[in-house]
Amino acid sequence: MDYLPLFVDLKNRPCLVVGGGDIAARKAGLLLKAQADVTIVAPDVSVSTQALIDADKVEWINALFIADFLTDCILVIAATDNEHVNREVYQQAKQRNILVNVADCPELCDFILPSILDRTPIVVAISSGGKSPILARQLRARLETLIPPTYGQLADLVGRYRTKVQAKFPKISMRRRFWESVLQGKVADHILAGRDQEGETSLQALLEQTQTDDLQSGEVYLVGAGPGDPELLTFKALRLMQQADIVFYDRLVSKEVLALVRREAQQVYVGKQRAWHAVRQEEINQLLLTHAQQGKRVLRLKGGDPFIFGRGGEEIETLAAENIPFQVVPGITAASGCSSYAGIPLTHRDYSQSCTFVTGQLKDGELDLNWPALVQPRQTIVVYMGLAGLPVLSKKLQQHGLAADMPVALVQQGTTSRQKVWVSTIAEIADVAEKEQPVAPTLVIIGEVVKLHNSLSWFEIKD
Ligand code: SAH
Repeated sequence: MDYLPLFVDLKNRPCLVVGGGDIAARKAGLLLKAQADVTIVAPDVSVSTQALIDADKVEWINALFIADFLTDCILVIAATDNEHVNREVYQQAKQRNILVNVADCPELCDFILPSILDRTPIVVAISSGGKSPILARQLRARLETLIPPTYGQLADLVGRYRTKVQAKFPKISMRRRFWESVLQGKVADHILAGRDQEGETSLQALLEQTQTDDLQSGEVYLVGAGPGDPELLTFKALRLMQQADIVFYDRLVSKEVLALVRREAQQVYVGKQRAWHAVRQEEINQLLLTHAQQGKRVLRLKGGDPFIFGRGGEEIETLAAENIPFQVVPGITAASGCSSYAGIPLTHRDYSQSCTFVTGQLKDGELDLNWPALVQPRQTIVVYMGLAGLPVLSKKLQQHGLAADMPVALVQQGTTSRQKVWVSTIAEIADVAEKEQPVAPTLVIIGEVVKLHNSLSWFEIKD
């Protein structure tokens, strides 16, 4: 970070603006917004500066700048059109350890005035470190549309009830839960819609009704993290990820997705290895249960969709048996993510009317699949966990009548910046895999639709 963002209380603190033009007036205006005690030094002033003087908002020293004017002030902004004067202000301020900003001259700045989104008491400051103020302004404009003007009222309301809430709920974790439910529920809906009174009444009712016990019960969120690209998460996934106390994640969850989990949440890796699958699954079920019983909000984050070859069902069965509340959030499954990002529609009027998902995991070196059902005309087959068993898969499908030249795609680490796609035929795909050595996770897509990859592939990986 080149600059540390700080929110400084300037109320009644002496600040100096050197220059009397429109830019100086704008800078003075900003300082005045923070109720600073502003003095302007300039031999002559523009209409806008004069207006500030006439309104008694600033004090005007009608003179050329000299270092004496810096005495006692805590920061100075130079906004004259004379480079020498600006530099002089900079040097003098530096000598006295006074924070200085020279307008439009980042190399002569100790501090930068950011682009400001003002929802007082919520204030968002954006800076590009002086590199591109326009970019910072554009970003601010985007945030303006995202953050309703009434956000400030919401923060004010919370501020007014803080002490009362603190008194009723002694533990920090309880208060966090209370406020989260306030800020996601009816109270926030009212305030953001401008219905301040209804909002406050709902908050009072909620404060009265909520008991400490309500804020201590554990819950499990079984959340699909999608195939890798964090932008493929659902809003709900993101929200629950933000309120978890502990997260159990597996091998398939990308680090970009993991980075979006609430920072204070404890992270536990429970990635599974093929060989000791069964034992570990029971351990995971037990872990979720134990932590929820301790009153935590437990996030179980799984790659793709938790109910598609994810054993999510088993995990919540244990919870259901023990009456632990849980929610399940679907995710974009690998078939959907990989096919989209590889430009291979799973169904297509001309090529395929149905699509089957199967697991290609070997049991004792064999695949136990319903082969006649798989070898059907105009059907796409998506094989999860199919890499190790690819030679068996290829042989069996051909034995059951699948044409040797049926197109097959291998999609490695789909939707991520490491995505790779290989296209071949069912007869040759095992050799391709042997030669190219795709790494896990890789998805196998079999069917005529794979032909479309050549013309529809759109996802480009930038280095
Ligand atoms: N619940 C997950 C699937 C778990 S099984 C889902 O809905 O996607 C694990 C298999 O999923 C892997 O062996 C691989 O075949 C596939 N897979 C998951 N993520 C993938 C990705 N980003 N790219 C390619 N294949 C993926």
